[in-house]
Amino acid sequence: MTTMAKEPKSARGKAAKSAKAGAAGAAAKRGPARVRESREAKRARALEVIGRLREAYPDAKCALDHENAYQLLAATILSAQCTDERVNQVTPSLFARYPTPEDLAGAKQEELESIIRSTGFYRNKAKSLIGMATAVVERHGGEVPAEMEALTRLPGVGRKTANVVLSNAFGKAEGVVVDTHVKRLSGRLGFTRETDPEKVERDLMALFPRELWGDLEHLLIFHGRAVCKAPRPRCGGCTVADLCPSAAV
Ligand code: SF4
Repeated sequence: MTTMAKEPKSARGKAAKSAKAGAAGAAAKRGPARVRESREAKRARALEVIGRLREAYPDAKCALDHENAYQLLAATILSAQCTDERVNQVTPSLFARYPTPEDLAGAKQEELESIIRSTGFYRNKAKSLIGMATAVVERHGGEVPAEMEALTRLPGVGRKTANVVLSNAFGKAEGVVVDTHVKRLSGRLGFTRETDPEKVERDLMALFPRELWGDLEHLLIFHGRAVCKAPRPRCGGCTVADLCPSAAV
């Protein structure tokens, strides 16, 4: 899953952030912090990071267009290996043709494939969508369930997708969404040493209070898109450079 991210103020105001850039430069000379950080210090630093990201991205939210849990579930399945922008181009036609789980359950595979083709892996995604919708109709009376266990039993729905739906459609914090951005930034920011998404999620759940789990996902994704990019993070314009053990490395 991906998000539309605006350039944060910090990336534009070079002069105002010169002190932070200096901190990033100093960190670059030192390399990643090797001093063992106490649990309390790590938690305080993590909360400060989230506070600053909240200032930088006050509008951070789910970027998949949706009006209900069914639409968000289908859009999230489509977002695997695909940008949110592309998914948002496809879903209006998809939901016009199949407005309810009952409609999608009765879809013809070939017709569905032709609608979602541009999102990639369209054969498997079409199978997952039909399977998901069929299970929602047969097991849950046409209503997307609001429980982790029931969601993850639906075809094509893993823990990450279930977390997206629970958090954004039902307002339930059952876990933390760990996508490629959340995983990368959690490692760079020293929130976890794990790389397996479920272990990363476990570390984030232990580090942050539950009320922050939903925002955490959006803030890290926005920052990953705008500044802490996958190939080359732009540490010189990063609002949390002085709090990051990987700054400018
Ligand atoms: S851009 Fe990423 S790696 Fe660089 S300081 Fe910011 S959070 Fe750390």
